[in-house]
Amino acid sequence: MDKPILSYPWDELPPAGTTSEVAPGVRWLQMPLPFALDHINLYLIDDGDSWAIVDTGIRGDETRGYWEQIIANELDGKPIGKVIVTHMHPDHVGQAGWLSRHFNAEFWMSRGEYYYARAIEGSSSDEFQDAAIDFFRMGGLPQKTLDHIRKSRWGNYHKSVEPIPIGYRRLIDGDALTIGGNEWRIVTGSGHSPEHACLYCEELGLLISGDQVLPRITSNVSVNPNEPEENPLKFWLASHEKFMGLPDTVLVLPSHNKPFFGLHARLQYLIDHHEDRMLAVEEECTTAKTAYELLPVMFERELDDFQMTLALGECLSHLHLLMDRGRLSREMSADGIYRYLSIDPSLAQRAHPDTHDPKDDVPIMV
Ligand SMILES: [Zn+2]
Repeated sequence: MDKPILSYPWDELPPAGTTSEVAPGVRWLQMPLPFALDHINLYLIDDGDSWAIVDTGIRGDETRGYWEQIIANELDGKPIGKVIVTHMHPDHVGQAGWLSRHFNAEFWMSRGEYYYARAIEGSSSDEFQDAAIDFFRMGGLPQKTLDHIRKSRWGNYHKSVEPIPIGYRRLIDGDALTIGGNEWRIVTGSGHSPEHACLYCEELGLLISGDQVLPRITSNVSVNPNEPEENPLKFWLASHEKFMGLPDTVLVLPSHNKPFFGLHARLQYLIDHHEDRMLAVEEECTTAKTAYELLPVMFERELDDFQMTLALGECLSHLHLLMDRGRLSREMSADGIYRYLSIDPSLAQRAHPDTHDPKDDVPIMV
Protein backbone atom coordinates (compact mmCIF):
# COMPACT_ATOMS: atom_id res chain seq x y z
CA MET A 1 0.00 0.00 0.00
CA ASP A 2 1.26 3.43 -0.86
CA LYS A 3 1.69 6.10 1.75
CA PRO A 4 -1.48 8.19 2.02
CA ILE A 5 -1.50 11.51 0.27
CA LEU A 6 -1.79 14.19 2.91
CA SER A 7 -1.86 17.89 2.18
CA TYR A 8 -0.06 20.49 4.24
CA PRO A 9 -1.38 24.08 3.95
CA TRP A 10 1.81 25.54 5.46
CA ASP A 11 5.35 24.77 4.32
CA GLU A 12 7.21 25.94 7.41
CA LEU A 13 6.82 25.87 11.18
CA PRO A 14 6.42 29.34 12.73
CA PRO A 15 9.81 30.50 14.12
CA ALA A 16 10.13 29.80 17.86
CA GLY A 17 8.89 32.76 19.91
CA THR A 18 6.29 33.78 17.29
CA THR A 19 2.75 32.65 16.45
CA SER A 20 0.93 32.06 13.18
CA GLU A 21 -2.87 32.13 12.70
CA VAL A 22 -4.24 28.82 11.36
CA ALA A 23 -7.98 29.62 11.71
CA PRO A 24 -9.96 32.59 13.07
CA GLY A 25 -8.84 33.00 16.70
CA VAL A 26 -6.51 29.97 16.64
CA ARG A 27 -2.73 30.45 16.61
CA TRP A 28 0.04 27.91 16.11
CA LEU A 29 3.42 28.13 17.85
CA GLN A 30 6.27 25.72 18.41
CA MET A 31 8.78 25.09 21.18
CA PRO A 32 12.18 23.41 20.76
CA LEU A 33 12.83 19.87 22.08
CA PRO A 34 16.24 18.37 22.91
CA PHE A 35 15.56 15.15 20.95
CA ALA A 36 15.90 13.92 17.37
CA LEU A 37 12.33 15.17 17.11
CA ASP A 38 13.26 18.79 17.66
CA HIS A 39 9.98 20.63 18.22
CA ILE A 40 6.47 20.44 19.64
CA ASN A 41 3.49 22.43 18.33
CA LEU A 42 1.23 24.29 20.76
CA TYR A 43 -2.05 26.00 19.95
CA LEU A 44 -3.51 29.20 21.41
CA ILE A 45 -7.28 29.73 21.22
CA ASP A 46 -8.69 33.25 21.66
CA ASP A 47 -11.17 33.14 24.54
CA GLY A 48 -12.36 36.76 24.51
CA ASP A 49 -10.55 38.53 27.31
CA SER A 50 -8.00 35.72 27.75
CA TRP A 51 -6.39 32.80 25.88
CA ALA A 52 -6.60 29.04 26.20
CA ILE A 53 -3.36 27.19 25.47
CA VAL A 54 -3.25 23.54 24.40
CA ASP A 55 0.02 21.91 25.60
CA THR A 56 2.99 23.79 26.99
CA GLY A 57 6.50 22.54 26.05
CA ILE A 58 9.17 20.74 28.08
CA ARG A 59 10.63 22.03 31.36
CA GLY A 60 13.78 24.12 30.99
CA ASP A 61 15.20 27.59 30.46
CA GLU A 62 15.06 27.53 26.66
CA THR A 63 11.29 26.90 26.54
CA ARG A 64 10.74 29.32 29.41
CA GLY A 65 12.59 32.01 27.46
CA TYR A 66 10.38 31.50 24.42
CA TRP A 67 7.31 31.60 26.66
CA GLU A 68 8.44 34.98 27.98
CA GLN A 69 8.71 36.23 24.38
CA ILE A 70 5.26 34.88 23.51
CA ILE A 71 3.71 36.45 26.60
CA ALA A 72 5.35 39.82 25.87
CA ASN A 73 4.66 39.99 22.13
CA GLU A 74 1.97 37.57 20.98
CA LEU A 75 -0.93 37.59 23.46
CA ASP A 76 -2.29 41.09 22.70
CA GLY A 77 -1.77 41.94 26.37
CA LYS A 78 -4.30 39.30 27.50
CA PRO A 79 -3.54 36.58 30.08
CA ILE A 80 -3.78 32.82 29.64
CA GLY A 81 -6.97 31.72 31.39
CA LYS A 82 -6.97 28.00 30.58
CA VAL A 83 -4.02 25.60 30.39
CA ILE A 84 -5.26 22.48 28.58
CA VAL A 85 -2.93 19.46 28.33
CA THR A 86 -3.56 16.59 25.91
CA HIS A 87 -1.47 14.02 27.83
CA MET A 88 1.20 13.55 30.48
CA HIS A 89 4.36 13.32 28.38
CA PRO A 90 6.95 15.95 29.37
CA ASP A 91 6.92 17.92 26.12
CA HIS A 92 3.18 18.47 26.60
CA VAL A 93 2.80 19.02 30.35
CA GLY A 94 6.35 20.24 31.16
CA GLN A 95 5.55 23.95 31.55
CA ALA A 96 1.90 23.55 32.62
CA GLY A 97 2.63 24.01 36.32
CA TRP A 98 4.60 27.20 35.67
CA LEU A 99 2.01 28.69 33.28
CA SER A 100 -0.91 27.80 35.56
CA ARG A 101 0.77 29.43 38.55
CA HIS A 102 2.04 32.44 36.60
CA PHE A 103 -1.46 33.32 35.32
CA ASN A 104 -3.49 31.68 38.10
CA ALA A 105 -5.10 29.85 35.18
CA GLU A 106 -7.46 26.88 35.11
CA PHE A 107 -5.53 23.64 34.55
CA TRP A 108 -7.33 21.00 32.46
CA MET A 109 -6.39 17.34 31.89
CA SER A 110 -8.24 14.03 31.63
CA ARG A 111 -8.35 12.11 34.89
CA GLY A 112 -6.24 9.22 33.57
CA GLU A 113 -3.49 11.57 32.41
CA TYR A 114 -3.52 13.76 35.52
CA TYR A 115 -3.20 10.93 38.02
CA TYR A 116 -0.65 9.04 35.94
CA ALA A 117 1.47 12.20 35.83
CA ARG A 118 1.11 12.72 39.57
CA ALA A 119 1.92 9.07 40.26
CA ILE A 120 5.21 9.00 38.38
CA GLU A 121 6.24 12.54 39.35
CA GLY A 122 8.15 11.20 42.35
CA SER A 123 9.15 7.85 40.85
CA SER A 124 12.90 7.73 41.02
CA SER A 125 13.16 5.37 44.00
CA ASP A 126 15.43 2.34 43.94
CA GLU A 127 12.31 0.12 43.98
CA PHE A 128 11.14 1.82 40.77
CA GLN A 129 14.60 1.26 39.22
CA ASP A 130 14.57 -2.42 40.23
CA ALA A 131 11.14 -2.93 38.63
CA ALA A 132 12.37 -1.36 35.39
CA ILE A 133 15.52 -3.53 35.30
CA ASP A 134 13.48 -6.71 35.95
CA PHE A 135 11.09 -5.77 33.17
CA PHE A 136 13.82 -5.19 30.60
CA ARG A 137 15.70 -8.32 31.69
CA MET A 138 12.58 -10.44 31.02
CA GLY A 139 12.52 -8.88 27.54
CA GLY A 140 16.03 -10.21 26.94
CA LEU A 141 17.97 -6.93 26.80
CA PRO A 142 21.75 -7.48 27.10
CA GLN A 143 23.53 -6.74 30.38
CA LYS A 144 25.30 -3.72 28.84
CA THR A 145 21.93 -2.05 28.18
CA LEU A 146 20.63 -3.01 31.63
CA ASP A 147 23.74 -1.41 33.15
CA HIS A 148 23.06 1.75 31.14
CA ILE A 149 19.46 1.89 32.40
CA ARG A 150 20.67 1.45 35.98
CA LYS A 151 23.31 4.17 35.60
CA SER A 152 21.16 6.77 33.86
CA ARG A 153 18.18 5.88 36.08
CA TRP A 154 14.87 5.00 34.47
CA GLY A 155 12.14 7.61 34.52
CA ASN A 156 13.44 10.94 35.82
CA TYR A 157 10.09 12.43 34.84
CA HIS A 158 10.36 15.28 37.31
CA LYS A 159 13.48 16.60 35.61
CA SER A 160 11.53 17.52 32.49
CA VAL A 161 8.22 18.51 34.12
CA GLU A 162 7.57 21.49 36.42
CA PRO A 163 5.71 20.43 39.59
CA ILE A 164 2.17 19.51 38.51
CA PRO A 165 -0.57 21.66 40.10
CA ILE A 166 -2.29 20.03 43.07
CA GLY A 167 -5.76 20.65 41.67
CA TYR A 168 -7.11 20.22 38.13
CA ARG A 169 -10.28 20.36 36.06
CA ARG A 170 -11.26 17.22 34.27
CA LEU A 171 -11.50 16.77 30.50
CA ILE A 172 -14.24 14.17 29.91
CA ASP A 173 -14.72 12.28 26.65
CA GLY A 174 -17.75 13.68 24.81
CA ASP A 175 -18.02 16.85 26.90
CA ALA A 176 -17.42 20.22 25.29
CA LEU A 177 -15.55 23.32 26.40
CA THR A 178 -16.80 26.68 25.12
CA ILE A 179 -13.78 28.74 24.08
CA GLY A 180 -14.15 32.02 22.21
CA GLY A 181 -17.83 31.30 21.48
CA ASN A 182 -17.10 27.92 19.85
CA GLU A 183 -17.69 24.44 21.22
CA TRP A 184 -14.58 22.27 21.44
CA ARG A 185 -15.54 18.63 22.01
CA ILE A 186 -13.18 16.36 23.94
CA VAL A 187 -12.34 13.13 22.12
CA THR A 188 -10.10 10.72 24.02
CA GLY A 189 -7.85 7.96 22.75
CA SER A 190 -5.57 5.44 24.47
CA GLY A 191 -2.42 3.48 23.73
CA HIS A 192 0.22 6.19 23.40
CA SER A 193 -0.80 7.35 26.88
CA PRO A 194 -3.67 6.29 29.15
CA GLU A 195 -6.44 8.82 28.35
CA HIS A 196 -5.13 11.20 25.72
CA ALA A 197 -7.49 14.15 25.06
CA CYS A 198 -7.99 15.76 21.64
CA LEU A 199 -10.17 18.82 20.95
CA TYR A 200 -12.57 18.86 18.00
CA CYS A 201 -14.32 22.06 16.85
CA GLU A 202 -17.05 21.36 14.31
CA GLU A 203 -17.71 25.07 13.60
CA LEU A 204 -14.09 25.73 12.65
CA GLY A 205 -13.44 22.27 11.14
CA LEU A 206 -10.40 21.71 13.40
CA LEU A 207 -9.00 18.77 15.34
CA ILE A 208 -6.21 19.52 17.83
CA SER A 209 -4.84 15.99 17.83
CA GLY A 210 -1.87 15.99 20.24
CA ASP A 211 0.18 12.82 19.66
CA GLN A 212 -2.98 10.79 18.96
CA VAL A 213 -2.75 11.48 15.21
CA LEU A 214 0.57 12.58 13.74
CA PRO A 215 1.21 13.01 10.02
CA ARG A 216 4.75 11.66 9.53
CA ILE A 217 6.02 9.75 12.53
CA THR A 218 4.31 6.89 14.32
CA SER A 219 3.64 7.63 17.99
CA ASN A 220 5.32 5.33 20.48
CA VAL A 221 2.92 2.64 21.74
CA SER A 222 4.79 0.88 24.53
CA VAL A 223 4.34 -1.57 27.36
CA ASN A 224 5.80 0.09 30.46
CA PRO A 225 7.64 -1.43 33.44
CA ASN A 226 4.99 -0.19 35.88
CA GLU A 227 2.25 -2.13 34.04
CA PRO A 228 4.17 -5.00 32.47
CA GLU A 229 1.13 -7.01 31.28
CA GLU A 230 -0.76 -4.12 29.63
CA ASN A 231 -2.05 -4.30 26.06
CA PRO A 232 -1.80 -0.72 24.77
CA LEU A 233 -1.84 -1.55 21.06
CA LYS A 234 -5.33 -3.03 21.39
CA PHE A 235 -6.62 0.30 22.72
CA TRP A 236 -4.55 2.25 20.19
CA LEU A 237 -6.14 0.44 17.24
CA ALA A 238 -9.63 0.83 18.77
CA SER A 239 -8.93 4.58 19.15
CA HIS A 240 -8.09 4.81 15.47
CA GLU A 241 -11.47 3.27 14.59
CA LYS A 242 -13.11 5.80 16.92
CA PHE A 243 -11.35 8.77 15.29
CA MET A 244 -12.52 7.52 11.88
CA GLY A 245 -15.92 8.77 13.08
CA LEU A 246 -14.71 12.38 12.80
CA PRO A 247 -15.13 14.13 9.43
CA ASP A 248 -12.34 13.53 6.92
CA THR A 249 -12.50 17.24 6.02
CA VAL A 250 -11.03 18.50 9.33
CA LEU A 251 -7.74 20.36 9.41
CA VAL A 252 -5.65 18.29 11.84
CA LEU A 253 -3.44 20.35 14.18
CA PRO A 254 -0.87 17.80 15.46
CA SER A 255 1.81 18.14 18.15
CA HIS A 256 4.66 17.34 15.77
CA ASN A 257 5.31 18.16 12.10
CA LYS A 258 2.79 20.38 10.33
CA PRO A 259 -1.01 20.80 10.23
CA PHE A 260 -2.55 18.60 7.55
CA PHE A 261 -5.66 17.38 5.75
CA GLY A 262 -6.20 13.65 5.23
CA LEU A 263 -7.31 12.33 8.65
CA HIS A 264 -8.93 9.09 7.45
CA ALA A 265 -6.08 8.15 5.12
CA ARG A 266 -3.57 8.69 7.91
CA LEU A 267 -5.57 6.64 10.42
CA GLN A 268 -5.94 3.78 7.93
CA TYR A 269 -2.21 3.87 7.15
CA LEU A 270 -1.39 3.60 10.86
CA ILE A 271 -3.81 0.71 11.39
CA ASP A 272 -2.24 -1.12 8.42
CA HIS A 273 1.26 -0.29 9.67
CA HIS A 274 0.70 -1.94 13.08
CA GLU A 275 -1.11 -4.94 11.56
CA ASP A 276 1.83 -5.36 9.21
CA ARG A 277 4.38 -5.15 12.04
CA MET A 278 2.44 -7.80 13.95
CA LEU A 279 2.48 -10.11 10.93
CA ALA A 280 6.23 -9.61 10.53
CA VAL A 281 6.79 -10.46 14.21
CA GLU A 282 4.50 -13.49 14.05
CA GLU A 283 6.32 -14.83 10.98
CA GLU A 284 9.58 -14.58 12.87
CA CYS A 285 8.19 -16.52 15.84
CA THR A 286 7.92 -19.84 14.01
CA THR A 287 10.85 -20.62 16.29
CA ALA A 288 10.77 -19.22 19.85
CA LYS A 289 12.20 -15.72 20.12
CA THR A 290 12.81 -13.17 22.88
CA ALA A 291 11.48 -9.64 22.47
CA TYR A 292 15.09 -8.46 22.13
CA GLU A 293 15.71 -10.89 19.27
CA LEU A 294 12.66 -9.47 17.48
CA LEU A 295 13.87 -5.86 17.52
CA PRO A 296 15.60 -6.09 14.11
CA VAL A 297 12.27 -7.20 12.61
CA MET A 298 10.60 -4.02 13.80
CA PHE A 299 13.53 -1.59 13.64
CA GLU A 300 16.00 -1.97 10.84
CA ARG A 301 18.48 0.64 12.00
CA GLU A 302 20.92 0.34 14.87
CA LEU A 303 19.54 1.47 18.24
CA ASP A 304 21.41 3.09 21.10
CA ASP A 305 20.75 1.95 24.67
CA PHE A 306 18.00 4.47 25.31
CA GLN A 307 16.26 3.88 21.96
CA MET A 308 16.45 0.17 22.72
CA THR A 309 14.27 0.57 25.81
CA LEU A 310 11.63 2.43 23.77
CA ALA A 311 11.89 -0.12 20.98
CA LEU A 312 11.50 -3.02 23.42
CA GLY A 313 8.35 -1.47 24.91
CA GLU A 314 6.97 -1.00 21.40
CA CYS A 315 7.85 -4.58 20.41
CA LEU A 316 6.09 -5.90 23.54
CA SER A 317 2.92 -3.96 22.66
CA HIS A 318 2.76 -5.90 19.38
CA LEU A 319 3.54 -9.22 21.12
CA HIS A 320 0.86 -8.65 23.76
CA LEU A 321 -1.84 -7.97 21.18
CA LEU A 322 -0.81 -11.10 19.25
CA MET A 323 -1.12 -13.11 22.49
CA ASP A 324 -4.53 -11.53 23.14
CA ARG A 325 -5.63 -12.62 19.64
CA GLY A 326 -4.47 -16.19 20.31
CA ARG A 327 -1.68 -16.00 17.73
CA LEU A 328 1.35 -16.31 20.01
CA SER A 329 2.18 -18.21 23.18
CA ARG A 330 4.72 -17.05 25.75
CA GLU A 331 6.92 -19.11 28.04
CA MET A 332 9.53 -18.07 30.54
CA SER A 333 12.77 -19.99 30.00
CA ALA A 334 15.12 -21.15 32.74
CA ASP A 335 17.19 -17.99 32.15
CA GLY A 336 14.24 -15.84 33.32
CA ILE A 337 13.59 -14.43 29.84
CA TYR A 338 10.24 -14.64 28.02
CA ARG A 339 10.16 -16.38 24.64
CA TYR A 340 7.31 -16.09 22.13
CA LEU A 341 6.17 -18.79 19.73
CA SER A 342 3.64 -18.72 16.90
CA ILE A 343 0.62 -20.93 17.70
CA ASP A 344 -0.32 -21.62 14.08
CA PRO A 345 2.42 -20.54 11.65
CA SER A 346 0.07 -21.04 8.69
CA LEU A 347 -1.91 -17.99 9.91
CA ALA A 348 1.12 -15.73 9.66
CA GLN A 349 0.57 -15.23 5.95
CA ARG A 350 0.60 -11.74 4.61
CA ALA A 351 -2.92 -10.69 3.60
CA HIS A 352 -1.56 -7.56 1.94
CA PRO A 353 1.79 -6.21 0.72
CA ASP A 354 4.35 -4.89 3.17
CA THR A 355 3.40 -1.33 4.19
CA HIS A 356 6.54 -0.86 6.19
CA ASP A 357 8.47 2.34 5.58
CA PRO A 358 12.01 2.39 7.04
CA LYS A 359 11.45 6.07 7.89
CA ASP A 360 9.11 4.84 10.62
CA ASP A 361 12.00 3.01 12.21
CA VAL A 362 12.95 5.60 14.78
CA PRO A 363 11.43 4.79 18.16
CA ILE A 364 10.32 8.07 19.67
CA MET A 365 9.58 8.98 23.23
CA VAL A 366 7.00 11.69 22.68
ZN1 LIG B 1 3.29 11.86 23.73
